[in-house]
Amino acid sequence: MEISLNLNDFFCPNEVCGDHGKKGLGNIVIYHKYGKDQRKLLKCKTCNFRFSERRRTREGTRREGVRS
Ligand SMILES: [Zn+2]
Repeated sequence: MEISLNLNDFFCPNEVCGDHGKKGLGNIVIYHKYGKDQRKLLKCKTCNFRFSERRRTREGTRREGVRS
């Protein structure tokens, strides 16, 4: 039992996805675990976009490494 990750806390970070920014739809699933930390890779079933759990996007978060 190691389901410490609440998938409802995640939403699809793919801006072109119809479910972007919506939590708790059940469209986010764990598709892979890797590394010593069993880091989880997540996938949006709606658009098949894959992203790391570390990329926990929050509303209003600045973009990483993007400067204009
Ligand atoms: Zn998506």
